[in-house]
Amino acid sequence: MDTPTSASVAANLQQVHGAIDQACQACARAGSEVRLLCVSKTKGEDLIKAAYEQGERHFGESYVSEAVGKIESLRAQGFNDIVWHFIGPIQSNKTKHIAAHFDVVESVERRKILERLSAQRPDDLPPLKVMLQVNISHEEQKQGCEVEELPELLEAASSLPKLELIGLMGVARIDASESELNAQFGQLKALQERFLAQYPGLKELSMGMTHDLGPAIAQGSTEVRIGTAIFGERDYSKMHKN
Ligand SMILES: *Cc1c(COP(=O)(O)O)cnc(C)c1O
Repeated sequence: MDTPTSASVAANLQQVHGAIDQACQACARAGSEVRLLCVSKTKGEDLIKAAYEQGERHFGESYVSEAVGKIESLRAQGFNDIVWHFIGPIQSNKTKHIAAHFDVVESVERRKILERLSAQRPDDLPPLKVMLQVNISHEEQKQGCEVEELPELLEAASSLPKLELIGLMGVARIDASESELNAQFGQLKALQERFLAQYPGLKELSMGMTHDLGPAIAQGSTEVRIGTAIFGERDYSKMHKN
């Protein structure tokens, strides 16, 4: 893929919305049921602004220091209505920055992280919206809590004062077949349905990326997290992951 420009971001977004609409039609869902989260990690402000100008307001970041720099800069330039989602692995020494700068955090998998985020959420901000990440790919190394840990985490996320539990997040295996994708996303949907009566806020299902948004939407995704299809391949050579 060529180096992305503002013009290619606009064209890519049209294609991505087209793909989301098509996937929704294929399973008789309304396109408005699925939100696009633009995953802008490693990407510069110019490309974020290009997506913003096309009407996008939800952006996802994975590296705390990189994200905080961009968030502060864009806020200072008046981009105040962007909803920032944190979707990366969370180290406990980074929770303070996440609590202070983000609107939504999707990648929580431990109780201690929930406690820190609640305690560190500034008083003048509304509760931090939280999704719990569940390991649906069943790979050893993968992010996310195990299904058995979910009840305790749901209880903590729903009772801590400065958190608002809103949903579940999952990442499928990168090399999964179509039927494996359906099984993995279907498992997350089943978990949401199982706990929805007890936790009525548990409405969001963040699942689906560039290569697997179709099966994710078919299984009930309410938010797809798309980076590459909008902003092009990522180049990690110039950045420190943190
Ligand atoms: C980077 C990332 C994405 C975006 O992936 P693409 O394949 O570029 O669409 C989605 N979800 C998570 C958790 C990510 O880290």
